[in-house]
Amino acid sequence: MTEEETADADEPTVPIVCEACDTTSRVPLSELRDSIDTHNDHRHDGDEIAQVDPILADALADAVADDLGLFEE
Ligand SMILES: [Zn+2]
Repeated sequence: MTEEETADADEPTVPIVCEACDTTSRVPLSELRDSIDTHNDHRHDGDEIAQVDPILADALADAVADDLGLFEE
């Protein structure tokens, strides 16, 4: 089983990018916030470095970001 196939087929996945680690991964929407928090906690002492792919974040912003509290600036 690869990581990319663990997501439920019915659930949209969201790309997360971390510039510091130079990594990109896709996670189910429902796990988005946890995945980002976990990565940043473990890798970056809680600094918010990993984030939703900025390109997609724009598209998502209106739809779900408010719900998930991604952009609470
Ligand atoms: Zn990172």
